Amino acid sequence: MTAKIIDGEAIAAEVRNEVKVGVDELKASGITPCLAAVLVGDVPASQVYVRTKRKACEHVGLSSVLHTPAGDIPEAQLLALIDQLNDDPAIHGILIQLPLPDHVDEAKVIERLSPSKDVDGFHPSNVGKLVIGMDTFKPCTPAGVQELLVRSGIEIAGKHAVVIGRSNIVGKPMANLLVQKHKDANATVTVCHSRTRDLAALTRQADILIAALGSPHIVTADMVKAGAVVIDVGINRVDDASAKKGYRIVGDVDFDAVSQVASAITPVPGGVGPMTVAMLMVNTLKAARMTLG
Ligand code: NAD
Repeated sequence: MTAKIIDGEAIAAEVRNEVKVGVDELKASGITPCLAAVLVGDVPASQVYVRTKRKACEHVGLSSVLHTPAGDIPEAQLLALIDQLNDDPAIHGILIQLPLPDHVDEAKVIERLSPSKDVDGFHPSNVGKLVIGMDTFKPCTPAGVQELLVRSGIEIAGKHAVVIGRSNIVGKPMANLLVQKHKDANATVTVCHSRTRDLAALTRQADILIAALGSPHIVTADMVKAGAVVIDVGINRVDDASAKKGYRIVGDVDFDAVSQVASAITPVPGGVGPMTVAMLMVNTLKAARMTLG
């Protein structure tokens, strides 16, 4: 079997076009949705992510502002910046690019965000809403995965979805999204993590396998059931002397081998990554619409 490639770039473009229509409508009623990005310090990967997100804003007509406090900003000052953005009616969504420097308590910063501007969906109040199936901001990466599945016509209901990874930003919300009693969910979900025994025995049961563990090519063909749908969230740098930058980006899945077994698979890059950014646009539009009541 050669798997169908799920084209994240194309599906993300579809989502962005829909957002653009919504943004134009809001602008016509006098509201320009605006995302504030907070980038602390000078972590190169974070700078790239924020640049990509701001470019996407531009593409869909959202305005964006960037705050770049130094890496040694005292925690109290960072919290004060968040208070200022929370109180600013011209700002609809706030993105705190993670990770934050070690001296800053990430949980405290996230809790300080106004839940109504928390377009990453990380605030405990939004996480709670997600878990109990209330409308809220869905965290962008797992929301993007769900959207990829739905827009690719992959039935989720009744399927066994196995999620590898239990982080607060990917694994846990992914599991919580797919288990909901909802037309785009209703899966039976298993969550695996670093302490899971016999990972392969569980992954081989998956109709939908979602890898979000952050190690290159851990998911091999023998871990995948014939015909399974495989979604690769991983972004890993591996050395590659033949590449211009000296490295290339690969996923958590051994793409070449697994695509011979799976029925559908996402590539890395070009799979989940663009969807994460597209879903941030969706959430920012949603935040701006919420101000209309
Ligand atoms: P994380 O390090 O916070 O969590 C990794 C999880 O994987 C942990 O829960 C851990 O228990 C589990 N794990 C690690 N090794 C394992 C193993 N050998 N077997 C089973 N479980 C194992 O990472 P994260 O923030 O959830 O990100 C996961 C990956 O997804 C990373 O590569 C990250 O770069 C990528 N990511 C991609 C996007 C995107 O937009 N495509 C967004 C966020 C994260």
